[in-house]
Amino acid sequence: MTVHPVNIPHSTDLLEVTFAPQGDTLYVAANSEVVNLWSICVFHWPEILGGLLALILLVCTWRLVRIVRRPRIEGRVYCGRCNYDVTDAPPTCPECGRDLEAKPARPGKTRLRRSIPTIVIVLVTCLLYAMPWAMNVGRQWPAVAGWFQWDSAEAVTWIQDRPITRLQPFVRRGTELLAVNPATAEWRRVAFVDLPFAVGNEFDLKISPDGRWATLRNDYQSLTAIDLQSGGVIGVRGSITQRVTRGRPSVWTSVAGYNADSSSVFAVWHNESERRVSLVEWNPVTQAVRIVEERESNVYDGGRIEMVEAERWTRSVTGEPGQSARFLSMYGTVNRSLERKLMEVAVVDDQGGAVEAFGVTPNSQAEPYLCADGSVIFLDMPRPMIKRPDEKAQPLKLQPPPAPVRQTLGRLVVSPDESHLLGLGHETMVLWNLKSGQLLASVDHGSKVPAGVALSAGGRSGAMMHIVRNNSGRFDKYLDVIRFPTDSD
Ligand SMILES: [Zn+2]
Repeated sequence: MTVHPVNIPHSTDLLEVTFAPQGDTLYVAANSEVVNLWSICVFHWPEILGGLLALILLVCTWRLVRIVRRPRIEGRVYCGRCNYDVTDAPPTCPECGRDLEAKPARPGKTRLRRSIPTIVIVLVTCLLYAMPWAMNVGRQWPAVAGWFQWDSAEAVTWIQDRPITRLQPFVRRGTELLAVNPATAEWRRVAFVDLPFAVGNEFDLKISPDGRWATLRNDYQSLTAIDLQSGGVIGVRGSITQRVTRGRPSVWTSVAGYNADSSSVFAVWHNESERRVSLVEWNPVTQAVRIVEERESNVYDGGRIEMVEAERWTRSVTGEPGQSARFLSMYGTVNRSLERKLMEVAVVDDQGGAVEAFGVTPNSQAEPYLCADGSVIFLDMPRPMIKRPDEKAQPLKLQPPPAPVRQTLGRLVVSPDESHLLGLGHETMVLWNLKSGQLLASVDHGSKVPAGVALSAGGRSGAMMHIVRNNSGRFDKYLDVIRFPTDSD
């Protein structure tokens, strides 16, 4: 078992970590700054193209001077190297010794005829250089600026270390998505979204079941789908948003999940003034948007729906004001229409009275986890519970960790394939096989303060963001990846 720090020098504002549904790729969302090197090149097009033009003109001038200084007479032939008249066809040039059989002599033409190709090159190059000026494209040249996305975070550091004010506007602040290989702790940038996550919002990052898409919600007005292969970014906002809301003031409150074939993503719109909540289906490829379900918001107060898998089950965790209750309800989809299935579990009021015998503690921070088979795991320590469909809730059987660890376990995370469970405690992290309950590993993470954890399919890799207070009193976030020994199960 190994713990590796992931070195992301350009950002200490990490937002969320999550593993791909299959495989070991870890996705990390972070607020950071990048510079598109291509747009800097485009900004300097008068200098770059002007330099190129000067170079071409210099070569052409040299050629024209050569032509002028080497007169030729029509009807005679000349050595191509030294311009000596070799009309009598000697096998080698008497002047410079060039082999005229291998490199034939040039027929004599007037200076004007010999100059024509060079003059054409000069005219065409000047015309090409004049075109962007004539079209008044400006330094930004919008039509060309979007051709490439050569984002660099290193260039931001370079620019900020130097007093080059004209490059400052090229620094863009936004949310980037990184893919990390947990075996090597190396990362690569998948995409950059020109919209930073604002503190105070709730951030959502969800990967599609086929591992092709990531969907981000980093402000209330837009959703962003990222093609994880190409890094292409598709957003839904503006006119599309208007179509969904029909002009009413509404906000995206959560990304619920994807449908089973990953073709579309479901997200929740909340209209506070009309007290309505809509579950919206969005296909990032076709840009089609439709409202799947619309309800009074007091059904879902807080407007949060989380879908585990749209074709099978959906869950929503809601709190009703006034009653101060928290309850779990579940929704399944049948023939792509949403069907509500209210499960009689985890209804708890603020006084700690459990409506259903579910072993929950008052003031618990744990949220219920809904499995693909419809079971609900209530990940509260020290007594995690499981409620299978049509059965009573019962304790989840897990091999107990050593006593000091058991006391501090505060957070449990289920792997995307529901095969393993990761428990996070003070200075220690523990891994179980969820099916057998066997304790597989215990990792010392020292005195790090965890800010987010994730576990990969099969329980092979884990990830932990942790918080460090920096010299200026602000909090930085760093990332560790953990490789667990694979169990035979
Ligand atoms: Zn010669």
